[in-house]
Amino acid sequence: MREVYVDNNATTRVAPEVLEEMLPCFCDLYGNPSSLHRFGGQVGEKVWEARERVADLLGAHPDEIVFTSCGTESDNAAILGTLASYPEKRHVVTTTVEHPAVLNLCRHLEGKGYTVTYLSVDHTGMIDLDELQEAITRDTALVSIMYANNETGVVFPLEEITQIIKEKGAVFHCDAVQAVGKIPLDLRSTPVELLSLSGHKLHAPKGIGALYIRRRTPFVPFFIGGHQEGGRRAGTENVPSIIGLGKACALAKEAMAEEQRRLQILRDKLERGILERVPSCLVNGGQSRRLSNTTNMSFEAVEGEAILLLLSEEGIAASAGSACASSDPKPSHVLVAMGVPQTAIHGTIRFSLGRYNTKEEIDYILEKIPSIIQRLRELSPLWSEEKRATG
Ligand code: PLP
Repeated sequence: MREVYVDNNATTRVAPEVLEEMLPCFCDLYGNPSSLHRFGGQVGEKVWEARERVADLLGAHPDEIVFTSCGTESDNAAILGTLASYPEKRHVVTTTVEHPAVLNLCRHLEGKGYTVTYLSVDHTGMIDLDELQEAITRDTALVSIMYANNETGVVFPLEEITQIIKEKGAVFHCDAVQAVGKIPLDLRSTPVELLSLSGHKLHAPKGIGALYIRRRTPFVPFFIGGHQEGGRRAGTENVPSIIGLGKACALAKEAMAEEQRRLQILRDKLERGILERVPSCLVNGGQSRRLSNTTNMSFEAVEGEAILLLLSEEGIAASAGSACASSDPKPSHVLVAMGVPQTAIHGTIRFSLGRYNTKEEIDYILEKIPSIIQRLRELSPLWSEEKRATG
């Protein structure tokens, strides 16, 4: 059976070039980078080179990059590390559409006596910059706002957000897990203090992430132990994955402009094709600036899980929301926050394209999806009601 993977916001395939650079790190370059002998020195140089490559993609200094185990750890370390640096401040600002790595941590913090302001979004998925400005007070230790949404691909205006936060004098953490490698970033001109990224979203392996910490930003480490990562993240480094992440960042830098242009053409073809072939569906966040690889579509009167299952029978792997929430029957918090109509919210599918998708695969999805939706609607009492209502 044909296999089409269009769930690249959940995770990506490791690029062969990345794997190739990682392989020597298992049996040849196996020293501990902290060791003073030749085995350690060689590996230490490789880790530094990876740090330079990550920094280069972000417009950062290599010493501002701290390797972590994933995006979730980077988000947690940024938030907890900042709060511990400002113990007198007890207020955090974030948005209603963050990834659970930020949102659930903020809820946890509320239980510990912090006050959290959750900025709302409108039906296009956009926050209100005036609301952001008003939310920041002298008690605000940190503002944590994502760059690009994992479910809808909606991209927040990072420059303007940063400017407002800087004028108000708060620390800014940006969860850029979905943005890094997809949209250009230059931290020399965007004075974010902390920024999270994750390797498996850009063709590096799972289980490796990084946290950018701007020089002179107060930061209390989360892990206590050795002096690795400049004392900011204890624990012997995951060397093969760090090397892999470095290579993935170098590849992303080289290919980003062309790759994103190509993906946008494919994504638009898919989106337009579905809108033309399937009645009563809508694109969530379609009016906003979005990641060029992502489309999030709601189909009236059908269940997202049922669509996924039938797509899967045809070899197509997409997602009903974010991967982390896919075992959760509640509608996505992002779509609820955007006010997606109740009749459509449960029938939501995210297609997220990636480096290895082709035009032929898009044609294949377009060939399969109309009959899948039609089949499900024929079985749906909601659909006959809707048809009756609309005549
Ligand atoms: N933040 C965002 C926006 C994400 O999309 C994800 C993963 O989907 C994460 C954080 C968590 O990253 P990780 O899976 O590396 O923990």
